[in-house]
Amino acid sequence: SLVEMEKNGNRIMVFVRVRPIGKKEKETGSRCCVKIVNRRDVYLTEFASPEDYLRLKRIRGGHFTFDACFPDSATQQEVYSISTSELVEAVLQGKNGSVFCYGATGAGKTYTMLGTMESPGVMVLAIKDLFSKIRTRSCDGTHVVHLSYLEVYNETVRDLISPGRPLVLREDKQGIVAAGLTQYQAYSTDEVMALLQQGNRNRTTEPTRANETSSRSHAVLQVVVEYRVRDAAMNIVHRVGKLSLIDLAGSERALATDQRTLRSLEGANINRSLLALSSCINALVEGKKHIPYRNSKLTQLLKDSLGGTCNTVMIANISPSNLSFGETQNTLHWADRAKEI
Ligand code: ADP
Ligand code: MG
Repeated sequence: SLVEMEKNGNRIMVFVRVRPIGKKEKETGSRCCVKIVNRRDVYLTEFASPEDYLRLKRIRGGHFTFDACFPDSATQQEVYSISTSELVEAVLQGKNGSVFCYGATGAGKTYTMLGTMESPGVMVLAIKDLFSKIRTRSCDGTHVVHLSYLEVYNETVRDLISPGRPLVLREDKQGIVAAGLTQYQAYSTDEVMALLQQGNRNRTTEPTRANETSSRSHAVLQVVVEYRVRDAAMNIVHRVGKLSLIDLAGSERALATDQRTLRSLEGANINRSLLALSSCINALVEGKKHIPYRNSKLTQLLKDSLGGTCNTVMIANISPSNLSFGETQNTLHWADRAKEI
């Protein structure tokens, strides 16, 4: 719980979400290798086919426990309420937080973060909730909400709301900022959904498949809430909280390039942000004093939202299909490690 997080300073809350089995997977006769028990435990099993006695001897699997596991029947609202709603409350109190979706391409990260018009995801539900919370307490003081939506692709930062030239990161009073990034003042949830969908269409696409968002692209939504009020002594109280919601690049790339002996320069760059995020999380896990935020654009941008007294939530997205067994296992191992913070 968040109470526990505050006590420990910087524990990460780790969740797993299993997406429904896809049409293609069903057609190719793939089996489900993931089972959720008691809402917290996930069992991963590789079933051997009955005919294949050689593989029978090589059944692999594992058992992991997380803060919560969402089965394929979980709704967007359930995922939001359990994983992120407390962070929205904390942001209103002036505390920073971040929510990451991590997992292989096709595992359900974008569905979880953005969702569809009919089933909006965590980004949209968080903003909706934020607006409704502000409405119910706006009798005193004023709240101002600003959104920005950017992409980190190949260590280049781009504005997804007003696409243009790459943005330069620089340090100012408020920390690391992307110079010239659009700060959008939003008023309604529909507006936000439209804005984010448009932003997602501006993400870098795969050169070979022009309609598909590149699996190497990280999308970062930041919501800054500023609150001003006069206290009893007529002094101005000023609080600022920032919530960062991140649809990470596909995790399979990081693992693949890591094992390759020959990597292209691009190959090394592609995953710098993902690898740097892993190193930062590892350093936080180990309780190190020095956290290597400077190693990538993504970790620089999130410096004030990771570790310390910030709330951090990791949602590991996985496919239930045995065709993705290896990727699922990697994702769960990584998530299991993050849990130790
Ligand atoms: P990723 O962003 O990790 O590459 P996507 O979010 O694009 O993966 O999901 C891959 C496909 O599975 C998409 O067609 C998406 O709509 C669908 N999908 C993912 N998660 C769910 C879910 N929980 N419920 C229904 N469909 C989902
Ligand atoms: Mg995606």
